[in-house]
Amino acid sequence: MKKYIMAFDAGTTSARTILFNLKGEIVSSASKNILQFFPHPGWVEEDPSEIWSAQISTAVEAMSKISASTDEIYAIGITNQRETTILWDKKTGEALYNAIVWQCKRTSKYCRELEEVDLKDKIREKTGLIIDPYFSATKIKWILDNVEGARERAEKGEILFGTVDSYLIYKLTDGKIHITDYSNASRTMFFNINNLEWDKELLEIFQIPEKILPEVKNSGEIYGKSSSKFLGGQIPIGSAIGDQQSSLFGQACFKSAMAKATYGTGAFVLMNTGYKAVQSKHGLVTTIAWGLDNKISYALEGSIFECGSAINWLKDNLKILDVADDSEYMATKVKDTCGCYVIPAFSGLGAPYWDSSARGTIVGLTRAVTKNHIIRATLESLCYLSKDVISAMEEDAGFKLKELKVDGGVSANNFILSFLSDLIDSKVLRPEILETTALGAGLMAGLASGAYKNLEELSEILRIEKIFEPEIDDIKREEILKKWHRACKYSLAFAEE
Ligand code: ADP
Repeated sequence: MKKYIMAFDAGTTSARTILFNLKGEIVSSASKNILQFFPHPGWVEEDPSEIWSAQISTAVEAMSKISASTDEIYAIGITNQRETTILWDKKTGEALYNAIVWQCKRTSKYCRELEEVDLKDKIREKTGLIIDPYFSATKIKWILDNVEGARERAEKGEILFGTVDSYLIYKLTDGKIHITDYSNASRTMFFNINNLEWDKELLEIFQIPEKILPEVKNSGEIYGKSSSKFLGGQIPIGSAIGDQQSSLFGQACFKSAMAKATYGTGAFVLMNTGYKAVQSKHGLVTTIAWGLDNKISYALEGSIFECGSAINWLKDNLKILDVADDSEYMATKVKDTCGCYVIPAFSGLGAPYWDSSARGTIVGLTRAVTKNHIIRATLESLCYLSKDVISAMEEDAGFKLKELKVDGGVSANNFILSFLSDLIDSKVLRPEILETTALGAGLMAGLASGAYKNLEELSEILRIEKIFEPEIDDIKREEILKKWHRACKYSLAFAEE
């Protein structure tokens, strides 16, 4: 009798496997850390064989904890760190080079050259992305150019490329299946999100042979079965979806104007824009949320570089906090920030400012300002930065956000969510299950394997723990936003010589 759905959460620093029951409750889980290597400043790598062995061993562990058999599992769903690039030998599965992780900046110079030859608009129109080392294209080119014999072997069809989803599926099927899904394909910087094909012109520009690319599939469908070698029997593989898109799905943001924000070390805001790719005028990224039944849902994506890391800065650098949890209590011990603003632009500001020379700034200090005011101002800054991203999304999409679902460590903070709701003038909803990334891939695989009938059934699974509603009027909102934007200006361009 089938009763579980297995989700692989192939994250940046850990591999996890969760077994969910059909109510979306976690019945078993296991996790293993993944080592990162930093061979040069700004370079980030991982060992693909460790990514695979950590993932499969957590699957074995999660099953054995509850003595689950493969017959009891409907399907495996996979969600993964996006953009991370692996090239491997088609026959043996052996990687040519370490996985180049999304955070890796080794191709920054090449990306600047691409901007100089005026490829910005073309790349944005075709892929929805801005030119950045983050995406897979320039990482593939780097491996082909720098690993001896790689390009020749790729031209001969002996090499395959994949993001982590693709690599895990190849391994799990013992080399039989080489695919990816629309959400992961849309992060490569050479997938045309309008005609849904690998873009020949861009492939030529990046000098990437089409032969090495996986076939692009729906994010939820049965791609095949896992080899019986690994888990004691075969299990259908029912989804592959990038982590941020997976949490959008796990948060049941199935319709246009629904959005989620994941507040972890950094923050990622994604808004579903329906079956339409919306081009951003504010430097947001247009991405494929998922493909289901060959229908594509799109999203706008904006990120905030520092989020939980700003709380850690209060704790570890300023030492005005003992633990992150205390920040809520301390912020509410004062009635406002006493006119001070913290702009946590430690590594520049992202959308809609796009200023890599912005630096962290505190303005409005007087003798009356205490540590609690500074803590409160830091918490508020995360809400202001979110509001800026969401306003940009609303302007681009031409409609107002319906509601914001939240997850991630920082979303435990009630003060933040309440102030956020005031600023964005929408409900903020915190679900009971905070493992929405794994849940998204699990639900998608459940849908593909017939465990669930439709999206309506899935919507009922996400139970909300707390709803935050806006409590201030438009006049007050305008007034505080105006002050924030004035404060923000002081941080811009500071690091410029
Ligand atoms: P990641 O997945 O990026 O590692 P998590 O989602 O685990 O991040 O969130 C961890 C972050 O959440 C830490 O930076 C921590 O400081 C912050 N955090 C945890 N609890 C709270 C809280 N109650 N208020 C504010 N921040 C918090």
